[in-house]
Amino acid sequence: MTTAEQFDKELNPWEQQAARFDTATTKLKLDEGLISVLRVPAREVTVNIPVSMDTGKIRMFTGYRVQHSFARGPAKGGVRFSPEVSLDEVRALAAWMTWKCAVVNIPFGGAKGGIICDPKTMSMGELERMTRRYTAELMEFIGPEKDVPAPDVNTNEQTMAWMMDTYSMHMRMTVNAVVTGKPLNMGGSRGRREATGRGVMITADQCLKKFNMSRESTRVIVQGFGNVGSNAAQLMHQAGYKVIGIGEWDGGLHNVNGIDINALVDYKAHNGSIHGFPGAEKAATADLMIADCDVLIPAATENVITTKNAEKVKARIIVEGANGPTTSGADEILNDKKVFVMPDILANAGGVTVSYFEWVQDRQGYFWKESVVNEQLEHIMVSSFEDVVNMSEQHNVPNRIGAYMLAIDRVAYTIRQRGIYA
Ligand code: GLU
Repeated sequence: MTTAEQFDKELNPWEQQAARFDTATTKLKLDEGLISVLRVPAREVTVNIPVSMDTGKIRMFTGYRVQHSFARGPAKGGVRFSPEVSLDEVRALAAWMTWKCAVVNIPFGGAKGGIICDPKTMSMGELERMTRRYTAELMEFIGPEKDVPAPDVNTNEQTMAWMMDTYSMHMRMTVNAVVTGKPLNMGGSRGRREATGRGVMITADQCLKKFNMSRESTRVIVQGFGNVGSNAAQLMHQAGYKVIGIGEWDGGLHNVNGIDINALVDYKAHNGSIHGFPGAEKAATADLMIADCDVLIPAATENVITTKNAEKVKARIIVEGANGPTTSGADEILNDKKVFVMPDILANAGGVTVSYFEWVQDRQGYFWKESVVNEQLEHIMVSSFEDVVNMSEQHNVPNRIGAYMLAIDRVAYTIRQRGIYA
């Protein structure tokens, strides 16, 4: 393989997922038959959807829904809109959802959806028509007991409202448990919007406890300022952490004395981006990834820590708010450097955990106070952190492999108990 081919493989999320899966199943000495079941998705749906654009012309978009596993319950996972969406990416994200739900021990399998599109260039009307047609095409595959979509990159509460409405119109009744991450007034959960960011902070808190560090003396850099990054940064700032860097896809901010994240959130709400914020200096995001700090939080998309920059990372702790931000090659380098990595399938599981609470509340028709949501989330994140660290220490493997082992073991156990239907 040439170096270029090798790097392509490094950037393919499905290959990356499979590499960790293979390492973990070898360590677990998992039965070959079960390996072959879990190594591939249960179902992959491709839909080509026509959309009437504002110009009056018809445009075709390709969308996917990959359902990796139903063993532990209905499939669960977000839908992303991005020009980078590919079947291999959605496959990997679906498998990661299976492992994530098993790590936090909630009764779901894993799925993911995506549409290849550039939402930044589309009007609200175009996005709505595309979302509705995508949902209509998936009618027989989704549902509260089948597969429950949620927001992901470039989708939000409004997207979920359209999906819920489209599904409900076809069913001739309001079915709010078909998606999570909905607006509050139509069956959404209190605390869902902040949940992934809050889970990231809870995970960072646990790392600090392990290393006897205090929030006040901990310098944090966050890459990404979307739902996950902005909420993690703001909650951590409010809790006393010193957030010294924020990196966006088109540039970032750095202030070694700390950035006032409350002011930055207001600034972005008024100006549409973080650029020009007076409380920090301009910095390149690639430089922020390797800048001096204690905790690095990649909170955007895949492949931001690779064999090309891992050696230069200075953080002692990495908490993965994004899915798949670190490649398996980078894992090895970070491991040699003794960086304590909290893998995505644990660190960003706060989102799907509160999605689970939302689904439970919808099905009960009874809604919880925010304090109850946050308390239950904290409980699940803390005990899952302990489960992952114990598994990793017991088998002398990095936390990521420990988390995969814990998850795969739980899913395999269920498959064995259910048996193979013939
Ligand atoms: N998209 C989020 C994730 O990757 C949330 C999924 C969900 O709530 O179902 O975990």
